[in-house]
Amino acid sequence: MQAAVFHASDRPLVVEEVPEPTPGPRDLVVEVKCCGICGSDLHAASLPGGLPKGCVMGHEFAGEVVEVGGEATGGFGIGDRVTGIPGIGCGACAACLSGDVMHCPELVITGLGQLPGAYAQYLRVGSNEAVALPEAIDFRLGALVEPLAVGLHAVNAAGLAPGQEVMVIGAGPIGLAVTLWARFLGARSILVSEPAQGRRAMATQMGATEVVDGAASAAACLAEKPRGGVDVIFECVGIPGLLAQCVDLAAARSKVVVAGVCMQPDTFVPAAAVIKELQLQFVLAYEKRDFQLTLDMMASGRIDPRPMVTDRVSLGAMPEAFEALKQPGDQCKVLVEP
Ligand SMILES: [Zn+2]
Ligand SMILES: [Zn+2]
Repeated sequence: MQAAVFHASDRPLVVEEVPEPTPGPRDLVVEVKCCGICGSDLHAASLPGGLPKGCVMGHEFAGEVVEVGGEATGGFGIGDRVTGIPGIGCGACAACLSGDVMHCPELVITGLGQLPGAYAQYLRVGSNEAVALPEAIDFRLGALVEPLAVGLHAVNAAGLAPGQEVMVIGAGPIGLAVTLWARFLGARSILVSEPAQGRRAMATQMGATEVVDGAASAAACLAEKPRGGVDVIFECVGIPGLLAQCVDLAAARSKVVVAGVCMQPDTFVPAAAVIKELQLQFVLAYEKRDFQLTLDMMASGRIDPRPMVTDRVSLGAMPEAFEALKQPGDQCKVLVEP
């Protein structure tokens, strides 16, 4: 089968022939119909030593089941349309059984060097990790479930109460997903800080009540709030310096939720956070129920993430699109359709 293969951090991906996935007894093989390009893939592929040579990335997938292992759970059959958690757990521990697969001690991750990912024609998916797509959800929407679930998990971690005010730093896919769920869950105001004009427009479409182009303008907006800031700041970028910026912008006794994945060392002055008695919370990924709620709310039309999609490309055109996304710009979620 064809897949977009990583060779080195200073080279574009190459579409080439690779072996088809061999499923374990509890696995499904899925024909990939759509897969989102994720910021963490761009991070990992740009970082020297971030990925092994030969790795196939891609973890925001939707597709059709073409093979079902003999011990697969969930009642999946050939032709079923699915998305799923990008990783395979042991299927038997408390984390796996409760849908918190990301905390399975035996978890192998899909698309970052352990299991091959979905920038390919076929993908191995765990039956315990797969989630069926409702009738109303096409493959393009199906590929957006994973990034939306990340946003939902982050907003849940903040313990956001209706009427609270939030700020979101970065209007990439995760920042937009956080914006969407913050509105859904009753945030009174959502201030989004994002340098790219096109992304600011998307943030407004997805629920931002105010958009600004960076930290300086954000600080001016926050200073006008009655308590000098918001209840929760969501950091959705993941570059060095942003923790310090969040601490600086946060109001006393507020919360900072870090959803950005910064892969380099970063510093901030703890005393600045101590003086404000800040809560600093790091979040990762999601649970299966986040996928389920996202799907249900999409299927019933109560959330619409489509404004975040800015392009769709074939697998052949994908390496070029991937390179282009490494430069900051107005592109947001780009979907690959193998
Ligand atoms: Zn992702
Ligand atoms: Zn497990």
